[in-house]
Amino acid sequence: MHKEDQPLIFELSTEGRIGYSLPEMDIPEIDLGELLPEGYLREEEPELPEVSELDIMRHYTALSKRNHGVDSGFYPLGSCTMKYNPKINENVARFNGFAHLHPLQDESSVQGALELMYDLQEHLIEITGMDEVTLQPAAGAHGEWTGLMMIRSYHEANGDTKRTKVVVPDSAHGTNPASATVAGFETVTVKSDENGLVDLEDLRRVVGEDTAALMLTNPNTLGLFEENILEMAEIVHSAGGKLYYDGANLNAVLSKARPGDMGFDVVHLNLHKTFTGPHGGGGPGSGPVGVKADLIPYLPKPVLVKNGDQYEFDYDRPQSIGRVKPYYGNFGINVRAYTYIRTMGPDGLKAVTENAVLNANYMMRRLEPFFDLPFDRHCKHEFVLSGKRQKKLGVRTLDIAKRLLDFGYHPPTIYFPLNVEECIMIEPTETESKETLDAFVDAMIQIAKEAEENPEIVQEAPHTTVIGRLDETMAARKPVLRYQQKQ
Ligand SMILES: *Cc1c(COP(=O)(O)O)cnc(C)c1O
Repeated sequence: MHKEDQPLIFELSTEGRIGYSLPEMDIPEIDLGELLPEGYLREEEPELPEVSELDIMRHYTALSKRNHGVDSGFYPLGSCTMKYNPKINENVARFNGFAHLHPLQDESSVQGALELMYDLQEHLIEITGMDEVTLQPAAGAHGEWTGLMMIRSYHEANGDTKRTKVVVPDSAHGTNPASATVAGFETVTVKSDENGLVDLEDLRRVVGEDTAALMLTNPNTLGLFEENILEMAEIVHSAGGKLYYDGANLNAVLSKARPGDMGFDVVHLNLHKTFTGPHGGGGPGSGPVGVKADLIPYLPKPVLVKNGDQYEFDYDRPQSIGRVKPYYGNFGINVRAYTYIRTMGPDGLKAVTENAVLNANYMMRRLEPFFDLPFDRHCKHEFVLSGKRQKKLGVRTLDIAKRLLDFGYHPPTIYFPLNVEECIMIEPTETESKETLDAFVDAMIQIAKEAEENPEIVQEAPHTTVIGRLDETMAARKPVLRYQQKQ
């Protein structure tokens, strides 16, 4: 449903028009037929648009404006921490001394980069309350898998081979059960109680001598703080299992509470969420993993160590799970996270948490009269609403999300977590102003009123975007990824 507001580049094509100027060839022409095997040579000219340089420039600039990003507008995805990425991070990551290093350079010639990585590890150890950190994993899910493989090696080294199960709450992020499966475990679900917290009775029932670990996040994916965390740690530890903390979104506890102090043995962080690395578009990300002392022998190798005043990689780690990423992780994201931590300082990081939590509670209370609030408690960095009331009027949560596009907002996460009907999950982050939060809330309130008075406008949204409502099944199964000539 492409709106005909702007001709596509193929439609602008005029035979013979060119967008480049090259000097005349002054070297002998190569016969490609001699260089390449037959099957590799195309038989017909590709059908490319013939346009001027200015046309192509405008084409790409127009496409870039159709994207929504954190730099162009509010992006309240729950469980995803779409916060502003400070531009000083980009400047520092582009320093010649960082950007032009080669990963195969000798350690002695990259001491500054190694020092930055080592210092970052130390900061993350301090922030999480763990004993050691690896920067190797390239994403949150990759960190989860790395952590679980260490837990697996730990149990195996103790001859404890019956531990085949990983317990995951029903509100968990989808990557948790997926990582457990890829790491060779079976997933067992533990229920939430009526307060949205892990049901302790159910936890006692599912945890036993076959439990390898409990994977959890706190605050949980409903944005609620697991008040019984110490008791949960006791249940899992006394059964011989390990506690895994999904720290992808640390915005609610940063500088306030530490997974290590809550009893967790392993934690992964998403530097491309909490620590302002840009995210989306396929990365690169960074998912460092922190562990308590008894898991240190299993860390991916090489391990970055400080020897006197020299930084070096230790490969002599016989119990290591091995390398999980070529070279040393996504170094550029490490530089950005390091810059963020150093520019914020401990007080700044504390303010991040306080403002993230304040913003979420402010929005939750302003929206409460207009939407169902399934868990009426003080929330942390995010909260969930339910669109049940609107569903009775024939307006689904999907419609509300689509209608938000007309107001210029990226919709929040919807239909997740799965244990809330018609779920709308909002994470404002600390970087948005009160004016932005109010404007978004006003749009949500207007949509709630439209659902009562004029539901069609919501059901048929979006009205202002270049592409209207997609057939999402077809879009996933049969994506149209390139220009197709009109029949
Ligand atoms: C984003 C997220 C992940 C996965 O991180 P990726 O970098 O996308 O692999 C895991 N858990 C939670 C809670 C998250 O929000």
